[in-house]
Amino acid sequence: MSKPEAASNGISRRQFLGAGAATAAGVTLAPGISLISVAQAKPVAEAVSSDKRWGMLIDTNKCAKGCSACVDACNTENGLNSGDEQHSRPEQKSQWIRKVDLRDKLTGHEVSLPLMCQHCENPPCVDVCPTGASFKREDGVVLVDKHICIGCRYCMMACPYKARSFIHEELTRQSENAPRGKGTVESCTLCVHRIDEDTANKRDPACAEACNTEGHKAMIFGDLKDAGSDVSKALKMHSSKAIREDLGLNPGIRYRGI
Ligand code: SF4
Ligand code: SF4
Repeated sequence: MSKPEAASNGISRRQFLGAGAATAAGVTLAPGISLISVAQAKPVAEAVSSDKRWGMLIDTNKCAKGCSACVDACNTENGLNSGDEQHSRPEQKSQWIRKVDLRDKLTGHEVSLPLMCQHCENPPCVDVCPTGASFKREDGVVLVDKHICIGCRYCMMACPYKARSFIHEELTRQSENAPRGKGTVESCTLCVHRIDEDTANKRDPACAEACNTEGHKAMIFGDLKDAGSDVSKALKMHSSKAIREDLGLNPGIRYRGI
């Protein structure tokens, strides 16, 4: 099935939304990632470009077992803990990033790591989406357009990382960073609202920022295509792996120590 043009082209979507922001202001907004620029009334500083690919290197040797700073920061940044979701089952609560503990059965060696949307270069969630709601931007960030998500959850089944959540309940309190809505699917956006900020000093995603603040410094975020970025230099210096490398999805999130 062919996909809507805007859904497969991050630049045209962005330009379209930038142009429409003034008219949309003041209207009761439906949830959707595309509305972030409207809610914040930010100018579009630069077009999303394939010259960049945003990604992250996570050092599991530095990730502390039991620490949930990244998870807590994500929940706060994106309004996932606003407390107005009355889940009939706790496991239905949206989770954009979670901590996973792994143990090598042979050696007993244990690692703890954060797992979120891996922002795959070849994302199966996008392949299976019947409406084009799941899309990958030119800069590698994989998002869901809540306006056209019909909640079929095909993407959740296709994602090998169990990275997506479905919103079961009515929401009344939301963060302007991440408009959300009942009946749609969501996942980590790499804090795309921060990436798109009109500033030369882009902030790290909330998870990486919190990990740094805690002093663990296990997450390095940046442009994988910029040889001078901290993340590229770290990737060049150390061996790293993608989780389920065998699937050939080429995730933007890489790990050390696994
Ligand atoms: Fe899609 Fe899952 Fe890959 Fe994220 S991790 S891009 S949701 S397949
Ligand atoms: Fe696409 Fe939404 Fe269905 Fe996922 S739940 S496949 S984003 S329409």
